[in-house]
Amino acid sequence: MERVGDPAEPGVRRLRFDTSARPFLVLFELTRACALACRHCRAESIPERDPRELSTGEVEAVLDDLAAIGAPRPRVIFTGGDPLQRPDLQTLVAHGSRAGLSMAVSPAGTPRASLSALAALRLSGATAVSLSIDGATAEGHDAFRRVDGSFNWTIDACRAAVQVGLRLQVNTTVTAPTVLELPGVARLVDELHAAMWSVFFVVPTGRADAAQALSAAATEDVLAFLYDLAPRIPLKTTEAPSFRRLLVHGEQGREKRTPGPLYWRLHEQLVDAWPMAERSSADHLALAGDRRRAPLAVGDGRGVVFVSHTGEVQPSGFLPLVVGNVRDTPLPVLYANAPLLRALRDPAAHHGRCARCELQEICGGSRAQAYARSGDPLAEDPTCDYVPAAVA
Ligand code: SF4
Repeated sequence: MERVGDPAEPGVRRLRFDTSARPFLVLFELTRACALACRHCRAESIPERDPRELSTGEVEAVLDDLAAIGAPRPRVIFTGGDPLQRPDLQTLVAHGSRAGLSMAVSPAGTPRASLSALAALRLSGATAVSLSIDGATAEGHDAFRRVDGSFNWTIDACRAAVQVGLRLQVNTTVTAPTVLELPGVARLVDELHAAMWSVFFVVPTGRADAAQALSAAATEDVLAFLYDLAPRIPLKTTEAPSFRRLLVHGEQGREKRTPGPLYWRLHEQLVDAWPMAERSSADHLALAGDRRRAPLAVGDGRGVVFVSHTGEVQPSGFLPLVVGNVRDTPLPVLYANAPLLRALRDPAAHHGRCARCELQEICGGSRAQAYARSGDPLAEDPTCDYVPAAVA
């Protein structure tokens, strides 16, 4: 489905198919029910299941529609809320897997994510799980997730996932008040042998407010810090696609930005969290060889699509603009034809710096950050401070 490396474009991965015709990744919110009450929750989770949730048959019908696209079929991640609150989760995973879809689950870090539950998901055909760690210690994580014990439950679930043969992805949300947790979390991700660390840059939507959002300067410093860690820890960013700019420019020797104070503070914290690291050089973090991944050119509505627990379709979970409902229209039809999704995939429809950026196709800016902060999903990404060559 992907090809790695193009001699003409070092550091870039492209999909082998046209993302205007089919999605690469479907984020499928099965429920909003969750035992946690996280400060940033996009879904504004609720304690009980919503009676309007898609039924087992309705979810299976969507999976069948996706499978009917043919190879290469989209990847599906069941998310929430906590998908483990759905008693039919194993049935749905098995249905998707039998249909030829690559199935992953993103459970909440609660006692429901037990060794036996994760083993059952693996037996049902799930290949991967993603679990969220937002603080390096129980104190930091539990304050963010607002339930005592959630840190320990999550660590146990991460170990159990690896034990039963699931590919482990750790998700971490970066917010302004918690950004200095990142170095300690990086150490944990390494210790847990996670296959991927996905760093989410909070979008002020749902329960997340503007006070949690990072400025453009802070975002750039965090991205530069992650760039240093990338040779050691396989990582990617969510809602900060300008990380790809650093990867591509780094590959080409073109990134010239001078890091700001937050970058240095993060490195200082890294020295404490990870004694082998030095403040001014991250070279020897690459103990296991360079694991830096070439970026994949996808984004909200452009290879990625989101289905809510009631069947509403959005470009992503962080971009709450509904383009239709799978109860009325098959998901592949909505994905290919909805005017908003078509506009998001059309560089000519974008505005500002992103429209004129030489990295438009690879990056394109976070459409969710643009919408949350300006009300226009086609505006330039306000969390990127890069000045494209055509604008300079
Ligand atoms: S200006 Fe826009 S397209 Fe260019 S690197 Fe920044 S976010 Fe990406």
